[in-house]
Amino acid sequence: MLKKYGILSIIGIILLIALIFVTASPLSFAVPNIQETPSISAITKPSKDKPDVYYFTEMNNVIPTNDKPEYDIFTVQERKERQLTTNLPSIEPYYGKKTIYLTFDDGPDPENTPLILAILQENNIKATFFLVGTEVNKYPELVKQIYTAGHAIGNHTYNHIYRELYQSPVTYIEQLQHNDELIKNILTVRPRISRAPGGTAGHFTTEYWRRLKTEGYIEVGWNISSGDASNAKADAILENIISQTNKNTFLWSHAILLMHDGRGHGETVRALPSIINFYKEQGFEFRVINTATPPAW
Ligand SMILES: [Zn+2]
Repeated sequence: MLKKYGILSIIGIILLIALIFVTASPLSFAVPNIQETPSISAITKPSKDKPDVYYFTEMNNVIPTNDKPEYDIFTVQERKERQLTTNLPSIEPYYGKKTIYLTFDDGPDPENTPLILAILQENNIKATFFLVGTEVNKYPELVKQIYTAGHAIGNHTYNHIYRELYQSPVTYIEQLQHNDELIKNILTVRPRISRAPGGTAGHFTTEYWRRLKTEGYIEVGWNISSGDASNAKADAILENIISQTNKNTFLWSHAILLMHDGRGHGETVRALPSIINFYKEQGFEFRVINTATPPAW
């Protein structure tokens, strides 16, 4: 009898130990705690393979003077929800002796964008790409390539259709924010710079400018047009650029050059090496558009 109880208590102890073991094992922690909300740092951490760029974070008003691309870890909506400022920091504009900003609109494009990225890499220079949302949707890998190579990305609206974009300041901002979300889904960050398709002249009223400012976008124009939108050949594109540069001394200190990497712009790709050579020979510094970039004019 005593022996029987002895065996039973040993079995009991073994079961108890087994129970403690099971409860303490990691399996018991696999049940998600639904009350736990992710911390800000968990949401906002930029991706591991982050390039050499600057991020707007909670503290928006501390920006080092630099020549790096700038990205925001929050969308405008997320800033508002967290009661963070959408204001841009005031920063001393950068005027170098000779500065050139190469900008490419309407991409990414599977033919032209990779070729342009390769030319920029060969020349060890950075440029700025204003992306259209519909193309961002189609070619997310190209968006990543532009970003990880350390170039600047700008917002060129969701669909680039003038009659939809320029219905009102509200529809314009909606298009920017739609594109922001697409870009942020790919990169975990979004641009603060934007460029109005076709330019702001004849499209923007003062209300557009006011809304852009309160939402914290930097609208970026240009002061040299490569003329690559009108089926110009590579030689003519280079000629356009040189002749405009020679006409205005301001463009020798502060040049923002408009080009396109969208579909059908193979001639821009062909002209690019000589365009870069021209500016290199003249001793220009190549920079990306950021908060320190002065207005085009
Ligand atoms: Zn465009």
